[in-house]
Amino acid sequence: MTNHDVIVVGAGVTGLTTAYRLASAGHDVLVLEARDRVGGRLLTERHAQHDEADSSADFEVGGQWVSPDQTALLGLVDELGLETFPRYRSGDSLYVGRAGTPMRFTGDLPVSETTAAAIAQLTKTLDGLAGEMDPSRPWEHPDATHLDSVSFRAWLEERCDDVEACDNVAMYVGPAMLTKPAHAFSALQAVLMAASAGSFTNLVDADFILDRRVHGGLASVPRALADRLGDRVRLEADVSLVEWSDEGAVVHVGDQTFKARHVVLAVPPTVVRRIRFSPELPAEHRMAREHQSFGLVVKVQAAYASPFWREQGLSGTGFGPYELVHEVYDNTPDGDERGFLVGFVSDINADEVGRASAQERRERILASLATYFGEQAREPLVYVESDWQHQELTGGAYGTSFDLGGLTRYGAVLREPLGALDFGSSDVAGLGFQHVDGAIRVGDEIAGRLIEGVHP
Ligand code: FAD
Repeated sequence: MTNHDVIVVGAGVTGLTTAYRLASAGHDVLVLEARDRVGGRLLTERHAQHDEADSSADFEVGGQWVSPDQTALLGLVDELGLETFPRYRSGDSLYVGRAGTPMRFTGDLPVSETTAAAIAQLTKTLDGLAGEMDPSRPWEHPDATHLDSVSFRAWLEERCDDVEACDNVAMYVGPAMLTKPAHAFSALQAVLMAASAGSFTNLVDADFILDRRVHGGLASVPRALADRLGDRVRLEADVSLVEWSDEGAVVHVGDQTFKARHVVLAVPPTVVRRIRFSPELPAEHRMAREHQSFGLVVKVQAAYASPFWREQGLSGTGFGPYELVHEVYDNTPDGDERGFLVGFVSDINADEVGRASAQERRERILASLATYFGEQAREPLVYVESDWQHQELTGGAYGTSFDLGGLTRYGAVLREPLGALDFGSSDVAGLGFQHVDGAIRVGDEIAGRLIEGVHP
């Protein structure tokens, strides 16, 4: 049995940041990762048309974008010597409303004056609520109890009788962020999503929130961290049992055991439930994780011979609260002459296409892209769907959130250290909640606490 200062379970960005900070401060740290790769929800895959290598391209099947408020991520990107490039956004965007025909626009959505005024009013209210919230302690918001007792959809409808305005605002937080229908999470959870990005206005501004990408893919961040950690990272080490006390813990991987003074469980709260603990986690800790669930989104990418939409003066950005693909963007890698689109099919629509055959799903998704960009969109050279929901070590996308009332009841518990154990992932972050920036912040915070020796 090897003996360490700290064992980190999970080599996603949270775990690797924690380990990198601890190792840099001279601590003996071991990272145990169940998969045969690092990065967790960040992954770049190479795909080609009919497996022909000369048509191959790299696709980011997990997280990819960086926004200007994500200073922890931008700082780490810099520290690791990586570089970013902006998302292509020149030209008109498209909006597909209930009529099902695309309308070009720049700036504000091309909706009626009444709908635009209703969206502006809801935005103002949500900005006000987000401004009152410390995203790392959302349960302390002055109206937390009420906001957590009502679904976001019901909250919107209480304030606004313009259905298209409600549908758009619901889309920004539901399908586009928490990837759950707006009736399935609380208004408090929605305000947290906004506060974690600085404001609701930031959250809905695609040019802000989806600003830049990293050369070589966002997965370069965990790969670079793992390179620096070297043989402190052990792959194919699926932790099945943790025996713990106040003094330390023994971690089991198959018939191997590893001992440490502290163990950091850097896995999503829902995935903590795969691990057995001895003694069992206290009831409140187990219940808190029972009230968490992953959202579901299918990320779809299509590569074409050229970015044909640009020739029509289109940016590649499109929104459609009633479309199967509710949002779509130009995803062409820097310097590539081909054209790439990325779109998202979320929550109930994702359930529905998940039941279809792969061929039918592809046809329906490409038909939705064709609604935005015309018939050419139906014929990509390469078509790639991300599938996180069938992966036991993740279980959905993008992240986890609470059911109604869960945030006030159990939010604080998810981050509470317990004896020799610490818990964290982007799903429990304040700033950068559900994003890579949040993962880094959580990793930094846990490592900082362990380095300072401030541990209950
Ligand atoms: P994870 O990445 O989930 O890491 C947890 C790790 O623990 C995994 O490697 C897992 O294999 C391992 N593990 C689990 N159980 C065990 C065990 N028992 N033993 C050992 N190891 C274990 N974020 C952005 O900032 N920008 C985006 O554009 C963006 N888009 C996204 C698109 C998609 C499709 C997805 C899925 C996510 C996206 N995200 C985005 C979110 C972002 O990827 C995540 O928030 C972040 O990567 C989570 O990092 P983490 O380390 O907290 O968790």
